[in-house]
Amino acid sequence: MNKNYEVAVFQGDGIGPEIMAPTLDILRRLSEENPGYSLTFKDAPAGAAHYAATGESFPAESLETARAADAILLSAMGLPDVRYEDGTEISPQIDLRKQLGLFAGVRPVKVSNGQTTPLALPNGKEIDFVLIRESTEGLFFTQGAGEVTQDEARETLLITRDVSEKLFRFAFDLARNRRASGRGTGRVTCVDKANVFRAFAFFRSLFNAEAARHPDLKADHAYVDATALWMVQKPWEFDVLVTENMFGDILSDLGAGLMGGLGLAPSADIGLDHAVFQPCHGSAPDIAGQGIANPFAMILSAAMMLEWLGITHDHAALSNDGQRLREAVEKVTANGSNLTRDLGGTAGTADAANSVMKALRA
Ligand code: ATP
Repeated sequence: MNKNYEVAVFQGDGIGPEIMAPTLDILRRLSEENPGYSLTFKDAPAGAAHYAATGESFPAESLETARAADAILLSAMGLPDVRYEDGTEISPQIDLRKQLGLFAGVRPVKVSNGQTTPLALPNGKEIDFVLIRESTEGLFFTQGAGEVTQDEARETLLITRDVSEKLFRFAFDLARNRRASGRGTGRVTCVDKANVFRAFAFFRSLFNAEAARHPDLKADHAYVDATALWMVQKPWEFDVLVTENMFGDILSDLGAGLMGGLGLAPSADIGLDHAVFQPCHGSAPDIAGQGIANPFAMILSAAMMLEWLGITHDHAALSNDGQRLREAVEKVTANGSNLTRDLGGTAGTADAANSVMKALRA
């Protein structure tokens, strides 16, 4: 039976629309060839260029389009020269996280055989883990509203039972799904600083309570400083890492570094009812309009979207296509002959995206 899924599309700023266009072409092609599902796309105007043109950064109608959709695809957003009058940047993606309760920031870190990485990987070792960053509270709780006086400044770190319980449940479910698809050992590591802060001891106790509900999975803990060290020394040992907002912010850039840069780093922000899929990188205004942006992080984010839709709707046709799409990008990066400049090649956006299309057919 064919089921249709509606996808809200935020085209983004700078290179955003340039990497979104080939990604939608690939998704259209995949769904046209698969009798099991179809996709329809609805544009949701928002962002810095939209603000410059209309005085509005995130129209209510676009939020409604996002809320009504089955999934949300969002390209890089924001422009350094276009800001609100108070000097802050335009970032509808952060509004979306808050409005739609997207508590789990999912950052896969994957380096397959043949892919370039700054690490010298021991023979046969591949990196394949997922970092889950809590995305609505933690040390970002007072974001933009910290107290600053002449002599001191304060920000608040907030850990709540409600969000942490949802976060940890999500982490264990993800570990189970990864193990079922042969990608992990079924292990969740809580990354914290429970030896110094009471808030993290609380975080850890909630993690332990959730772990007790999953005796079929492994659970352990690591301090955030040691995790940074191990991400460089033995990253192949991780499966699912779950952590607070600020720690996750920092470790996810380290993860992108392991993958050879932001051009290959996809992400998802997931809540109970909604999910946004977007590349980790920004809108790269320095190369916008030249047709040289790397589309892979955007395409990998679209692959994550298909996998997530497949899991949440128990619809294998979508999960299979998501996996095929991810593997097609991995083939192209391992082959190395059609890479964009940020990855050391000379290909433009269209050529790089076409080689993914070809790999899908092979
Ligand atoms: P933000 O704060 O919005 O995340 P940023 O200041 O970290 O943005 P990016 O826009 O991500 O910066 O760009 C950082 C550098 O990486 C720039 O030189 C940019 O050209 C390059 N870059 C980012 N994304 C891509 C991409 N998809 N393809 C090629 N180069 C990219």
